[in-house]
Amino acid sequence: MAQEIFNFNPGPAVLPKSVIEKTQRELGNYPGLGYSLLEASHRGKHVVEVFAQTEKKLLSLMGLEGTHRALFLQGGATMQFVQIPMNFLFGGKSGDYIDTGMWTSKAIKEGKRYGGVKVLYSGKDKNYTELPDLSKLVYSPDAAYTWVCSNNTIFGTQYRTFPAVNTPLICDASSDVLSKVMDHSKFAIIFGGAQKNLGPSGVTWVVVRKDMLDKCNPDLPEILSYKSQAENDSMVNTPPVFGVYLMGLMLDWITEQGGLPAIEKHNNAKAALVYDTIDQSGGFYHGPVVKKDRSLMNIVFTLPSEEKTNAFVKEAEASGLVNLKGHRSVGGIRASTYNAMPLKGCEKLASFMVDFAKKNK
Ligand code: PMP
Repeated sequence: MAQEIFNFNPGPAVLPKSVIEKTQRELGNYPGLGYSLLEASHRGKHVVEVFAQTEKKLLSLMGLEGTHRALFLQGGATMQFVQIPMNFLFGGKSGDYIDTGMWTSKAIKEGKRYGGVKVLYSGKDKNYTELPDLSKLVYSPDAAYTWVCSNNTIFGTQYRTFPAVNTPLICDASSDVLSKVMDHSKFAIIFGGAQKNLGPSGVTWVVVRKDMLDKCNPDLPEILSYKSQAENDSMVNTPPVFGVYLMGLMLDWITEQGGLPAIEKHNNAKAALVYDTIDQSGGFYHGPVVKKDRSLMNIVFTLPSEEKTNAFVKEAEASGLVNLKGHRSVGGIRASTYNAMPLKGCEKLASFMVDFAKKNK
């Protein structure tokens, strides 16, 4: 029997087997259509229904039906670093940003092209191993928005709480969307690339509170305006149909697992296995992130030397534990344990870590 592979890639990332299998079953002949969804017109009733249902499922899991719209766009989360300031920082407005890693640094850089940007905090001098005390930051009362990244994929930090601001709160949740129970109603916009917890690359989900649509820059090209995208149900042009269909299956899968409470429990159990192994290794493994801010999605740790790190990656791969190498800017190991990573994957990783430490101490 072929060895079971556990894929710890940070994104594109592991998808549930049942979702891949359903996609395979339906790929050639979409139910009721007679041919593949890949060949279907986005103006036809099947695709229109896929979009309407996927929007409904996403908003429902977030508890935002009625107050928000879900848009399915292209250009990745990176495009949102551009599109959000384009829509909301016109006419001399300014946005507050909290810099907790590479993805907020990039957003800050892009934001500066369009308007004022105030950086309230930067974790750079601590190599982004810690999140700020949000109650101590000085927020701008007239900011067009306040920007956070809920989970910092590269450095392995994740917020437990969010800024209590009256200004619109914007959240890049690319790498921890729908990974736990959360009050989503605090966000004016929450967005991400789908390729971690919600499906394949090529589709970007953007959940926008309805009142924000009236604040969009009216002079933008239609394709860049959230208002026009909402009015056209994300079909200003030919949308990423297959990605949205697959996202719909991912949302069904989350519901089948028992919804966010069950997903959270599972994610907590998986991360605990790996973090406990790090903490009980007598210093062989080191987790650079302060404990209170540890991410349940991206577990970052280092080994005593580069040589041992390389050996770890190689031997892990031979055991079926793949894509564990840390981001080039951090080094070490990064185990991405998104929703679809089974508990068994983390059990196997933890036991591999124990054995590797024993042999290499
Ligand atoms: N934000 C976060 C938190 C990310 O992890 C990533 C990708 N890893 C991005 C933004 C950029 O996403 P994309 O490649 O879809 O533009």
